[in-house]
Amino acid sequence: MKRKVKLICAFLLLACFIMTGCTNKGDEPKKTIKVGTNAEFPPFEYINEQGEVDGFDMAIMKAIGEEKGYEINIVNMEFKSLAASLKTGALDAVAAGMTVTEERKQTVDFSDSYYIAVQSIVLKKDSEIQSIEDLNGKKIAVQEGTTGDFLVTPEDDNEIITDKNTQVKRFKKGADAIVELKNGGVDAVVIDSSPARSFVAANEKDLKYVDVETSEESYAIAVGKGNKELLDDINEGLAAIKEKGIFDELVNQYINGNDNKVRQTSDNPIMQIIYDCKYVFIDTNGYQLLLEGLGVTIGISFAAVCLGIVLGFIIALMKLTETRKKRKTVLSVIANVYINVLRGTPVMVQLLIMYMIVFRSNMAYLAAILTFGINSGAYVAENIRAGIMAVDQGQMEGGRSLGFTYSQTMRYIILPQAIKNAFPALGNEFITLLKETSIVGYVAIRDLTKAADFIISRTYEAFYPLIAIAIIYFILVWGLTKLLAVVERRMRRSDLR
Ligand code: GLN
Repeated sequence: MKRKVKLICAFLLLACFIMTGCTNKGDEPKKTIKVGTNAEFPPFEYINEQGEVDGFDMAIMKAIGEEKGYEINIVNMEFKSLAASLKTGALDAVAAGMTVTEERKQTVDFSDSYYIAVQSIVLKKDSEIQSIEDLNGKKIAVQEGTTGDFLVTPEDDNEIITDKNTQVKRFKKGADAIVELKNGGVDAVVIDSSPARSFVAANEKDLKYVDVETSEESYAIAVGKGNKELLDDINEGLAAIKEKGIFDELVNQYINGNDNKVRQTSDNPIMQIIYDCKYVFIDTNGYQLLLEGLGVTIGISFAAVCLGIVLGFIIALMKLTETRKKRKTVLSVIANVYINVLRGTPVMVQLLIMYMIVFRSNMAYLAAILTFGINSGAYVAENIRAGIMAVDQGQMEGGRSLGFTYSQTMRYIILPQAIKNAFPALGNEFITLLKETSIVGYVAIRDLTKAADFIISRTYEAFYPLIAIAIIYFILVWGLTKLLAVVERRMRRSDLR
């Protein structure tokens, strides 16, 4: 007896140990680091349409954070103040397209370099300026405290801009410098090549740019001097995301994607459509996004359908205990609540609750599959229940009088017929589910619909990607309808035998 008690105690202790181990692992708080940037430097950092700081640097910092277990808290401030804020400890790191320079190395430590850039001269379309030397004696706008500023400010050691009459106007934002240029206040803007391309692309009719080939510089992430632990983590994270291909993906998404590719045009409307399609789907890699999205849509739908069927059966049987016992049962009450709650709230709301509250913005795919599976379960349950109710009462009586128990009669006589009855309605449910998954983009999953969304923001073309996904969804549903019809015919045929 004593041994038994000891054994049980040991077992309980072990269980507690394992459970606390598991929960600790899941809840382990991530270290939060404050990452400073200046969101005026597209495509490395900018304010996106949702008003959040977005861009290549933010994306790589988040990817590194994922790798190394850091929560990233982005702080947007003036470029000039970034290095100083590292020093005071107001920031832990800076990701701002910051160039590694000897002067800056005195105050901060730099990670391995992740990008090579040059300086560019942005000019009015009709400008005759061709090189950096031509800027001597001109009016130039720059972003204050940047390498562009250092390149053209006529100091004693500046060998290129030697004319002391050269005027440099310093702006807090690159975009303001561009406005100054468009208004004729300056002759040129000198700024890093990537934002130069972004600005010119957005003002294609008025502006052009020339690269200063000799001004190569490399970007790195900065940390406070001596913060070796964080620096090592950043370098390791950077290496890991490069190795996994995440880095290149982000380059494509943010830097290459924003680079407006040359578009062919034609007076022939048919040729124009062909050129447009080529641009949207091939030149800017739209087809790849669509294929990936298609895989995600099919995967989530399939997993959710399977879960929905299992849950639907269970809930239907729970609800049927009421018919059998001719009174409410605990099981039937639970089933009713389940069905009413899930049918009574929008699936979009359910998805957000599942993702943001239950999963705390983690594991989006699992959250989506569970949401759609659980939601679908409510509808499947009602379909199956209707299918069971449609089976003649005499079937149950017949089964029982043959000596079958209730569950045997259910399993061998009623359910096979019920499934046949419910089949068309179930098919409908699967089709609805496939289309309903088009909202998963809200929890940052790249499904088919989200892929179209991406293509639109890359190409500024809405027509082709939207029509393309409409056609793809249609083909999917059409194929599914055909498949369901074949299965149904098979089932009926076996009926006749
Ligand atoms: N690369 C430039 C520098 O480090 C500009 C960076 C920026 O404006 N965000 O000075």
